[in-house]
Amino acid sequence: MVNFQKLKNIILSNHSFLITTHVNPDADAIGSEIAFYQILKLLGKKSFIINHSETPYNLQFLDTDKVIRQFNLDDHADLFNKVDVLVALDFNRSDRTVSMRNSFEQSKAIKICIDHHQDPEKFVDYEFIDTEYAATGEIILSLITETKLVPLTREIAEPIYAAIMTDTGSFRFERTTAKLHRKVATLLEAGANPTEIYDKIYDQSKFSKIKLLGRALESIQLIADGKIAYMIITQKDFEEFNAIESDTENFVNYNLSIENVVLGLLFIELKNGFKVSFRSKGNIRVNKLAAEFGGGGHTNASGARFFEKQMNDEMINLILSKAEQYVQ
Ligand code: 5GP
Ligand code: MN
Repeated sequence: MVNFQKLKNIILSNHSFLITTHVNPDADAIGSEIAFYQILKLLGKKSFIINHSETPYNLQFLDTDKVIRQFNLDDHADLFNKVDVLVALDFNRSDRTVSMRNSFEQSKAIKICIDHHQDPEKFVDYEFIDTEYAATGEIILSLITETKLVPLTREIAEPIYAAIMTDTGSFRFERTTAKLHRKVATLLEAGANPTEIYDKIYDQSKFSKIKLLGRALESIQLIADGKIAYMIITQKDFEEFNAIESDTENFVNYNLSIENVVLGLLFIELKNGFKVSFRSKGNIRVNKLAAEFGGGGHTNASGARFFEKQMNDEMINLILSKAEQYVQ
C-alpha cells in the first residue's frame, strides 16, 4: 500500500528535487520522471532529472521541456547534496543507477522511492512501493487522483499514458484490469492521444533496429521440449547494423509468441559484459531466476547484467540450465 498523504506531504514541505531512474530507461521510467517533473513544475518547485543513460530516441518526445540530463560526475555530483529530496522512480536498488550510485548513496538529501518492482533493497528513507501497480506511472496517477495535489493536465497525462501502455505490453499483461482501464480513460479525457503515443514509441523505428530484430529472430533456439526459447545478439550484430542497446527493447517478447514456449531469454553482448532479459508466462517466476544472477524485476519480466564478464557458451549454458529448472 502506498501512503499517498505522506508522499504529498514530502512534496509540499520541500523545495528542490532531483529525479532519477534506472539504467537503460524504458517508457515507464522516462514517463514517470516527466510526469513527476510536471507535477513539481505546477507546484512551483525546483527540479532536475538526471539519469545514467541517455534517453532512447523513441522516448525523447516525452521530454517536452528538454530537461533530462545524462549524469556527469563533474557537473552533477554537488547537486545530489544540494537538493532537498532525491526521487528514485521505477527501480528499487541503488546499483540500478550505475555511475550515479555513489552520489546517490552518499547524498544527505531525503531519499524516496516510487516503484512497482519486487524485492526492494533498503536504500531510501521513504518507500512508496506497491507491486500491484501495472506501472510506476500508475502510482503517480493515483497520487494525483487520491490527493488532488495538482490537476491532471495533458502534460502529465501523456507521459503517464506512455508509462502504462508500455509496461502493460499495450494493455495485455496480467495487471491490465477494468480498474486500470478506468484510470487510463481519465488520461484520454485529459488529452493523451493513444494513436500518436503508440506511433511515436513503437512505429518510428530506425531501419537499423528492424534489421537487428531480423538477426535476433534468426538466432532463436528452442530447448526444454520447446518450452524455452532464447535469442543472442552480439556486439558484431550491433556493429553490422549500426544499432544500439536500446534498439533491443521488446525483442525478447518474440520468444513468447512461439507456441508452447513459456520462458524466453535474450542474451545481449555489451561493450563491457552482457545482459540477459527474461520473460515468462503464468506462474514461472523469472524474477527469482534473474535474482540467481544478481538481477531482478517482475514475476514475468526480469533482467540481469553481468559487468566485466564475457558472454560465452559456458555462461550462456549455465544460465540456460538454471532456466530449465523453472519449466520442469
Ligand atoms: P528488461 O529485460 O526489459 O531490461 O527488464 C525487464 C525488467 O527487469 C524490468 O522491470 C527491469 O527493471 C528489470 N531488470 C532488468 N535488468 C535488471 C537488473 O540488472 N537488475 C534488476 N534488479 N532488475 C533488472
Ligand atoms: Mn516500470
